[in-house]
Amino acid sequence: MVSQQIQEKYAELALRTGVNLQKGQALMINSSLEGADFTKIVAKKAYELGAKDVHINWADDELTLLKYQYAPEEVIADYPEWKVKLHDTFAEDGAAVLNIRSTNPDLLKDIDPKKVAKANKAAAQAMTNFRKYTMNDKITWSIISIPTGDWAQKIFPDKSREDAIASLWEAIIKIVRVDQEDPIAAWDAHNETLKTAREILNEKNYKKLIFKAPGTDLELELPDGHIWKGGSAVSEKGITFNPNMPTEEVFSMPHKYGVNGTVASTKPLNYGGSLIDNFSLTFKDGKVVDFKAEQGQDTLKHLLETDEGASRLGEIALVPHESPVSQSGLIFYNTLFDENASCHIALGKAYPTNVKGGSAMNEAELDKAGVNDSLTHVDFMIGSEKLDIDGVKADGSSEPVFRNGTWALDITGK
Ligand code: ZN
Ligand code: ZN
Repeated sequence: MVSQQIQEKYAELALRTGVNLQKGQALMINSSLEGADFTKIVAKKAYELGAKDVHINWADDELTLLKYQYAPEEVIADYPEWKVKLHDTFAEDGAAVLNIRSTNPDLLKDIDPKKVAKANKAAAQAMTNFRKYTMNDKITWSIISIPTGDWAQKIFPDKSREDAIASLWEAIIKIVRVDQEDPIAAWDAHNETLKTAREILNEKNYKKLIFKAPGTDLELELPDGHIWKGGSAVSEKGITFNPNMPTEEVFSMPHKYGVNGTVASTKPLNYGGSLIDNFSLTFKDGKVVDFKAEQGQDTLKHLLETDEGASRLGEIALVPHESPVSQSGLIFYNTLFDENASCHIALGKAYPTNVKGGSAMNEAELDKAGVNDSLTHVDFMIGSEKLDIDGVKADGSSEPVFRNGTWALDITGK
């Protein structure tokens, strides 16, 4: 088990560098019962830092599964109004939101994917207003993870539950830099590196990116006024925060009508408790026109059919193959980690903040600017040591951006 001291360091990092909790601010935490000990450490630290209120929405994998097994379909397909109100109330009050994620990736593997898709869609629909707060950086929010038994044993199947949890703690602590003397300073330096990379890409202002790897030959147009982001973000109120910990990506958005070719996944995707693995998607003018998956074909189908925008892309993220997550050599079956080991793209909604003036655009303006809209946003991994990316400039000339899975472009700014 990881020491109390290390857990306190992690909690402090999540509150200061993650959501950047301010004095007098409320904090809403989404966490699991299995993570109660750590969550209480976070709550205590939050009050010490001046939080006026810490509210925790508890969840539990076993109870979630029981509901899927026993509750009638109309209950599962209904996202209660009071839950929506709860989230909206905290968001309107300007609360910070911390998600402590640690779901068993196989939790819903025996549940009908159609049922799961219905529940996911209902939740996404109900939370449309709340999502605007997070996806437009109106409030500060962050996602972190802590180990739970089932998840840890999925990653370390040959270890006892206890040893698996210990090993996963060890891996996470290292990846989020909490093993370092001063994790907050380490994150400041890391954010600086990502900032330089995104500034260089913004200056390059590529028209197109071309991806080539085994099974992948994809041309991705970047919209006019696209913005590369990465590392820390700044909220509407001017508070700097880190939406994801870990984060190793710089990301922008493809034009919703400008994606052509085929892309192959390089890691399994855990989508709402079901795994989709070894899959490929073929795009024409931005839309998926063909797809196949060795595992989870039905789940992938339901994901793509969530709505019109679910079969178009909303994100392109560049992550060098030698990122700390990748160096761990582990597959986490958890997007927060796996996406930070690998270049990835996302099906569904784009972050309006990835295009100039996007946060203030209405639906028609967003569409015209090439910004995809959907109830869903699902990242999946396409990077490997075999991935090459070329950037095509406005004048038609092109240059290597990635070679063999890592930066070919000098992104140090030196
Ligand atoms: Zn991403
Ligand atoms: Zn994403």
